[in-house]
Amino acid sequence: MFRNCKTCGFKFVPGDEEDAKLHKDFHKNYTHGIALKGWRNERVVDMDSLENGRVILVVNDDPPAHIKKVQEVIKMMESELGDGWIYHKHCKVYLFISSQRVAGCLVAESIEKAYRLVSNSDAKSDVTTTTKEEKSVSTTLQFGGVSFHREIVRKNHSTKNERTSEDALLGAVICEKDAVPALCGIRAIYVTPSNRRKHVATYLLEATRKSFCSGLSLGHSQLAFSHPTNAGKLLATSYTNTESFLVYTTNSL
Ligand SMILES: [Zn+2]
Repeated sequence: MFRNCKTCGFKFVPGDEEDAKLHKDFHKNYTHGIALKGWRNERVVDMDSLENGRVILVVNDDPPAHIKKVQEVIKMMESELGDGWIYHKHCKVYLFISSQRVAGCLVAESIEKAYRLVSNSDAKSDVTTTTKEEKSVSTTLQFGGVSFHREIVRKNHSTKNERTSEDALLGAVICEKDAVPALCGIRAIYVTPSNRRKHVATYLLEATRKSFCSGLSLGHSQLAFSHPTNAGKLLATSYTNTESFLVYTTNSL
């Protein structure tokens, strides 16, 4: 009989030595991050006030070993956030390295436009009608009259996904109808369980804001977020210091 680890979701046969070892490695990677000492030619993002770690940027032209490591990290993120939508080759990937492990990861992409979220207080007066039916679709992004559905495809219906499905649920996100120009879209942010509440996500956002466009530092509120989950909404609200932060829809891969 299989058993699932409640923390990392790993499926194993109790008492099987080989399984126990595989689980031990996976569990450590899951909770503390995938091991990464660093690379000789790594691209460290210049940040002041960053202790206990550093942020490395990886882009598609980087050496295969770097890309391979990124793919490992993405795979770990997918076990939590859903398969197949997080990464494409035009993404810039920011890795937060702490204690020789990848404690957090942010995936960003170039975009051209985004939509300003209608904040809760505005929603009552500005948005005409949101029918009951629309509200019940938990993963709908709504722009004016058009609704976009979240792209997450959950291929593995494991307990890992069930555990986080509550977090992934999202009330209808209501946005202004007209797009505004935007440059940088945040596709996904992930912080390993043992590194949460240590501002890792904020450091990753700061690194992105300062380095995404070379020679140009973006403002906090210029970052746009794709399909924010409830946790993502809280993060974006506090980071951008507004409830009406920018959101955008990701293109299909
Ligand atoms: Zn485990």
